[in-house]
Amino acid sequence: MSTITGQTKVTGIIGYPLVYTLSPIMHNAAFKATGLNYRYLPFVVEEKDLGAALQGIRALKIRGVNVTMPHKEAVIEFLDELSEEAKIVGAVNTINNRDGCLIGYNTDGTGFIRSLREESFDPKDTTAIILGAGGAAKAVAVSLIQAGASEMILVGRDIRKLEKLKARLLDNFTYITIKTLSFKDNLADIFRVGDLIVNATPVGMRESGDLLPVPLELISTKHFVYDLVYTPLETELIKEARKVGAKVANGLGMLLHQAASAFEIWTGTSAPVEVMRHALTSELEGGEQPNDAKKKDQRLPT
Ligand code: NAP
Repeated sequence: MSTITGQTKVTGIIGYPLVYTLSPIMHNAAFKATGLNYRYLPFVVEEKDLGAALQGIRALKIRGVNVTMPHKEAVIEFLDELSEEAKIVGAVNTINNRDGCLIGYNTDGTGFIRSLREESFDPKDTTAIILGAGGAAKAVAVSLIQAGASEMILVGRDIRKLEKLKARLLDNFTYITIKTLSFKDNLADIFRVGDLIVNATPVGMRESGDLLPVPLELISTKHFVYDLVYTPLETELIKEARKVGAKVANGLGMLLHQAASAFEIWTGTSAPVEVMRHALTSELEGGEQPNDAKKKDQRLPT
């Protein structure tokens, strides 16, 4: 890795509590592989200090940062500009510092689409079923519409939240058909028409013990099942879908490609995706000790 000098550009992640994040591993591996004189560091920022931290990014000429829980929405008021996606989603996971002008991006959705395409799935003219109505569901929904999905079915446990998300999407995109359904509704018909099923809830994460309240028996070879969860790498949903021959993907691809997009925003050069993937999978798969398991369950999405 290049030596730290007066020219080293600093990037990092702001969040609280920053218990465990995979981003430093991916980004520092990418900087090392490309020979760019950059470093990526964790910055633990409490909510009360968010404004000061953003001013600090300007003052210290930090090149850019990722933003994670709980600041993804709150950070917006401290930024100078927002990308189109960040505006529509209402959340930022990447900030670029262009000579003191802080621009907010949301690369979660871009990362999701990049990873779908890597799996040879083209969302154009497809019907997508999204389970969940939180931040990730929002980013995924926006990016799928932008990528040409023709119909979207939002499924969740809080119908008011789903209707709010639907209204927000329709405010920005008039050419998509959107339905909302509760997990308690009969989901058989939508599973018959859906092409892509995305789990954007934490259900399936290690130790949660929950099973998604959806008709898993209706998943078939026609479906692409994408679980945003990546701990464990094989959730019950993925296992069931794999059993019946559906195409499947876990959340690693999205995690990887949101980071690759951030790398490209900061450096202006293509990300060494394979290097980043290797760093990520080595960390996740290699040498996990029983005592680390609990700590890793608190892993942040970025
Ligand atoms: P979030 O904003 O907290 O939203 C979570 C959503 O899941 C909410 O709609 C919530 O329902 C729903 N939910 C929670 N528990 C549920 C349960 N037991 N049954 C049914 N629905 C439930 O979280 P998020 O940021 O969107 O993240 C969601 C998941 O995606 C997490 O597992 C996260 O790790 C993962 N993620 C992965 C990536 C990646 O790069 N792979 C990126 C971002 C997120 P209510 O609306 O009723 O509260």
